[in-house]
Amino acid sequence: MMGPSHALSGAAVWLTGSWALDQFADYHQSPLALAVGTAVCAGGALFPDLDLSGKVTRNQGGATVARTFGVFSLFIAEVMEKISLGVYYATKLSRDPRRNNGHRTLTHTLPFTVLVGWGTTALCAAYGKWAVVSILFFMIGLALRGLFDEWAERAGWVIVTLASAAAAWFTFANLPGDRGYPMIGLAVGVGCFVHILGDMITKAGVPILWPIPIKRRMWLMVGLPNGIALRTGSKAEVIVLRTALTVLSVLAAVGLVAPSVLHRFNIEV
Ligand SMILES: [Zn+2]
Repeated sequence: MMGPSHALSGAAVWLTGSWALDQFADYHQSPLALAVGTAVCAGGALFPDLDLSGKVTRNQGGATVARTFGVFSLFIAEVMEKISLGVYYATKLSRDPRRNNGHRTLTHTLPFTVLVGWGTTALCAAYGKWAVVSILFFMIGLALRGLFDEWAERAGWVIVTLASAAAAWFTFANLPGDRGYPMIGLAVGVGCFVHILGDMITKAGVPILWPIPIKRRMWLMVGLPNGIALRTGSKAEVIVLRTALTVLSVLAAVGLVAPSVLHRFNIEV
């Protein structure tokens, strides 16, 4: 799947989940908390592809994510790719093939998802304000890059970086601190998980079972069979899937925000 589809799926899952919590569990969030969760989840849904530096594959979605913050994120991607490749070789079994780059390995596993979600929460708890601002800045940048890819491409990474910084600061200044922190970690973790599911419906698949060894393979790639797998950049992805995700997001957002808007204008439903 390409960057915008990943980002959209993160946003759709967060909004739909929030709507379900609102409807069935009586768990309400402020519009700002909803917007932050959605942006962070959309950003988190691009995070695993930060294991793909621009140099490795010039024409794939991953490279787009790696260019969010210019050379800085390209460097992070380079480091993530090398660490992933290191972990691949450190845990590889006899039937796992040789590889020369780490894309779609460590960052596409469940332990990584849990680690990132937990790590985000731990950072926020330990460093408070500064960790929250930094994480929001980073995730909002990825979300902008993913959701508004054409704008981001035209605007360039400096504008994207400035826009993320402004959004992160505004959010931090307006979000009450008491229950915002664990939500950020959860949104990052859910986003990573949604990314893995998105890659699973493509042919290449992801090592979802790692670190469970199966038939002398630790990095078995699990994906849909050729006949029904989603082709990256195909009409099914760009038109059908993205439209469905957009409609879902809009419906959930309307369902979440409409009651309070109607209430404000004293309209009973
Ligand atoms: Zn991926």
